[in-house]
Amino acid sequence: MLSSSISSPPVPVLPSPSLADRIEALLPQTQCTKCGYPACRPYAEAIADGSASYNQCPPGGQQGVARLAQLLQQPVIPLNPANGVERPRQLAVIDEAACIGCTLCIQACPVDAIVGAAKQMHTVINDLCTGCDLCVPPCPVDCITMIEVGGANAATGWDAWTQQQADEARARHDFHVIRLVREKQENDDRLAAKAAEKLKAVAAESAATPEQQAEQLRKKAIIQAAIERARLKKEQQAQESIKDSKDAQ
Ligand code: SF4
Ligand code: SF4
Ligand code: SF4
Repeated sequence: MLSSSISSPPVPVLPSPSLADRIEALLPQTQCTKCGYPACRPYAEAIADGSASYNQCPPGGQQGVARLAQLLQQPVIPLNPANGVERPRQLAVIDEAACIGCTLCIQACPVDAIVGAAKQMHTVINDLCTGCDLCVPPCPVDCITMIEVGGANAATGWDAWTQQQADEARARHDFHVIRLVREKQENDDRLAAKAAEKLKAVAAESAATPEQQAEQLRKKAIIQAAIERARLKKEQQAQESIKDSKDAQ
């Protein structure tokens, strides 16, 4: 008699989270850089490798320090005032009448919380704003103001920011980073295609005299060198991303 049992597919074994992963999961993900690192993930990595202390995140506040201290089995220490103070949640507000549509704030926002197009007014999507205030300094007409959410006696630190908001901000930042890489790649490809076209045009130029031929060779050498530099850069970036993905495993 035939057996009716169907063998189950193998269950994939997921890598266990690294210390940096577990630290990152405790960070508020506003991506504000106040810890001294370009985003929450590099700060998590710095704590994990011992090059940063666990009291440098003002958005997490004192409760954030306590969470990290518990994970790291270290004493709870005060938030480092050099990194900023614990405060209520902030929200960016754009004075739309003054906005000149330069898009600089969009480029600065780590979670894509600003919408607008070139030469048109910009606006902040309140629910997506992490209050990082990174959009304020680049604005050439000072039309972005940070306001406090919650009024007098507003909650601060993790009491003003939920885990769900942190998870969403992290996902948006991941998407933002992927988008920037993709846009850079598209721009590099556009430039490479332009250089290849230019090379073709130079090669097609008639060069009858020795001087013209020398000039043609010179131009071709310049363009070929630029193409080679771009190729090497692309190769290096590909190797770095392979290394990053291996490190993340
Ligand atoms: S929330 Fe800001 S200060 Fe805290 S870890 Fe993230 S980037 Fe650093
Ligand atoms: S809108 Fe401004 S304050 Fe809000 S998340 Fe973006 S950069 Fe930060
Ligand atoms: S940086 Fe300022 S002026 Fe430029 S688009 Fe943003 S809000 Fe408008």
